[in-house]
Amino acid sequence: MPSDRNPDDLEEVDLLVCGAGAGGMTAALVAQLEGLDVVLAEKTAQVGGTTSTSGGTTWVPGTHLSELAGVPDRVEDARAFLESVVANRGGARLREAFLTSGRAAIEELDRKTDVKFAAAAAHPDYLDGPGAAYGGRALGPINFDGRLLSREDFERVRPPRGEFMGLGGMMVGRAEVGALLAPFASIANLRSAIAIVGGYMLDRLRYRRGTRLLMGNALVARLLYSLRKAKVPILFESGLKELVVENGRVVGAVLEGPAGLRRIRARKGVVLATGGVCWNKAIRERLFPQGTRDYALGPVTNTGDGADVAMAIGARFEDGGDSPALWMPCSSYRRPDGTLAVWPHIILDRAKPGLFAVDVRGRRFVNEANSYHDFAMGQIATGAIPAHLVCDAAFMRRYGMGMILPGARNLRAMVKAGYVIEASTLTELASKIQCDPAALAATVESYNRAAASGVDDEFGRGSSVVNRFNGDAASGSKNPCLGPVGAGPYYAMAVRPADLASSAGLSGDEFGRVLDEDCEPISGLYACGNDLASIFRGTYPGPGTTLGPALVFGWRVAKHAAGKLAESAGAMTDERKQHATL
Ligand SMILES: Cc1cc2nc3c(=O)[nH]c(=O)nc-3n(C[C@H](O)[C@H](O)[C@H](O)COP(=O)(O)OP(=O)(O)OC[C@H]3O[C@@H](n4cnc5c(N)ncnc54)[C@H](O)[C@@H]3O)c2cc1C
Repeated sequence: MPSDRNPDDLEEVDLLVCGAGAGGMTAALVAQLEGLDVVLAEKTAQVGGTTSTSGGTTWVPGTHLSELAGVPDRVEDARAFLESVVANRGGARLREAFLTSGRAAIEELDRKTDVKFAAAAAHPDYLDGPGAAYGGRALGPINFDGRLLSREDFERVRPPRGEFMGLGGMMVGRAEVGALLAPFASIANLRSAIAIVGGYMLDRLRYRRGTRLLMGNALVARLLYSLRKAKVPILFESGLKELVVENGRVVGAVLEGPAGLRRIRARKGVVLATGGVCWNKAIRERLFPQGTRDYALGPVTNTGDGADVAMAIGARFEDGGDSPALWMPCSSYRRPDGTLAVWPHIILDRAKPGLFAVDVRGRRFVNEANSYHDFAMGQIATGAIPAHLVCDAAFMRRYGMGMILPGARNLRAMVKAGYVIEASTLTELASKIQCDPAALAATVESYNRAAASGVDDEFGRGSSVVNRFNGDAASGSKNPCLGPVGAGPYYAMAVRPADLASSAGLSGDEFGRVLDEDCEPISGLYACGNDLASIFRGTYPGPGTTLGPALVFGWRVAKHAAGKLAESAGAMTDERKQHATL
C-alpha cells in the first residue's frame, strides 16, 4: 500500500526498519510490496552503508538468472557444497531457509522492482568441493544510471571508497580497467575508454561524481529507486537508540535525530539492519583477535547499534563460529591531509604469478591466492600481522600491487609516501621489513623452485579453481599463480586484516526473528544483514556470501511480518534450541 505520508508525521506503522543497507532496504521494499505500512529509518544522511562501497556480488544459488545466463545452477549442488564447507559448525536450519527461498526472493525483486541482477557466467566459488559452482551462482547488480534518481536522491547514495574511484569520482568495473590503462592498445579499448571517461566528464558538469553506478553502488541506487517508486517513507538522520517493549513484545523504537528523540510504534515489529558489529568497540575488544581491532572497512557510523539495543532487552549474541568477522587483507597509508587511504587486496594482485607473502620471520605462511578471507585467516592463525606482500620489479610493472597501478605509474609517489618499500637487493629488503635475510632468501629460492615445477608443495598455490581464476593464464607459466622472482629492485607492502563484514551477530531463527538467551523468538523483533549472525559460521564459501543472505533474509523477514511465510507448528522450540547451539 504505497504511502504518500510525510515521514516526519509518522507515529505508528506496521513495520519499522532500522538501517538502509542491503538488508534493511530489501526488508522495507518487500514489506511495502506486501501491503504493510512501513518506514525505513536511517542513522545518517545517506543510504547504502557498507553495501554502497562493496562489490555488490550477491551469492544466491539456483536462481532463474543462472538459467538466463546459460549456466543453470541447482540448489541441491549448493546444499552439498555448503555441507562440505560449513559442515557441522551449526546454523543448518537458517542455511536451508536461505537455499529454499533464494530463488523466489530474487525472482520477485526482478519482476516487481528495479533491483536487477545478472548471473556471472564465470565467478567461481571460493573453495573447491562437491557442488562448487564456476558460474551462475554469483549475481552482479546491473549498472544503474544515477540520473534516474532525483538530484537530491543521487546525493543520498553513499559513494564508493575514494580509493576505488578514478579521476576523483568515476566508477570503473573490473573488466574496464584494462581499457583505461591501455586505451591505445586497440580500437575497442579506445572506444571503451572514451565512452567511460567522456560520460564522466559530462556528468561532472552537473554532479559531484559520475552517475554511471556499478557494483554495490548500483545495488543501493536500485534499491533506493525502487523504494521511492513504491513510496516507502525514509527517515534520514534517525538513528535507532532504544527498543520499546511492552508485555514482552517489541512494539516500537526510539530514534534519535538532529531534532531530538522520537518514538515510533510498530504493530508488526522492528527490523534491525544496522550493519553488524563493524566499529562497535566493546564487541571488537571482546571477540576480535589481536591485530584486527583497529580498523573496519564499513562506514564509521556503523557502530553495532542493532546488537547493543537488542542485547539490552535480552537478545542472544553469537560469536560467529570460526571467526567473528570476515576479512580482507588491507594495505594503507596516510595521505598528506592526514586521512587514511586503505586498499583491500581483493583479487587484483595476490594470485598473480611472482608474488608471495611473508611473516615477520621472512617465511611464507599461507596460500596467497586463496580468497581474501582465507588469506587473512592465515594471517590470524599464524600471527602474521602485518604480513608483507613481496614481488620484483617485473611483477610490479606488469600487475601493480594494491594502489600501485600496472605499469607502475604512481610507484615513485607511493614509495615516498611509505606505502610500498623498495630495495635493490633482497638483503636490503629483509632489513627494511625487519626479517631474517637468510630466511627471505630461502623463501625466494623455494618459491622459484615451485614456479619452475608449477607445483607449490608447501601451500598449494594455484591448486584450486578460484586460485587459477584470479591468476594469469596468459603469463606463460606452468601454473597461472606461480612465476619466478627475478632481478630487483624488490618491493614489499604491509597488509593487515580488516573486517569487510561481521560473522558474529544476533541469534536468529529461519524467519529472521531475534532469539533470546533461551533461544525463543523475541516477539516483534527481527534482524537481517550483518545484524543477524552469519549463516556460514565464519567460513566464506563464495563471492557475495554476505549480500546474498542479507537480501534473502530481508525478503524473509518482510514476508514473515506480513504473515506470508508459514511457521510450522509444534516441536519448533527444541529444534530452534538445537539449531542455535549446533
Ligand atoms: C570493499 C568491500 C567489498 C565488499 N564486497 C562484497 C561483495 O561483493 N559481496 C558481498 O556479499 N559482500 C561484500 N562486502 C560486504 C558487504 O558490503 C556487507 O556485508 C553488507 O553490505 C552489509 O549489509 P547490511 O545491510 O548489513 O549493512 P550496511 O550496508 O552497512 O547498512 C547498514 C545501514 O544501517 C545504518 N545504521 C547504522 N546504525 C544505525 C542506527 N542506529 N539506526 C538506523 N540506521 C543505522 C547505517 O548508516 C547503514 O546505512 C564488501 C565489503 C567491503 C568493505
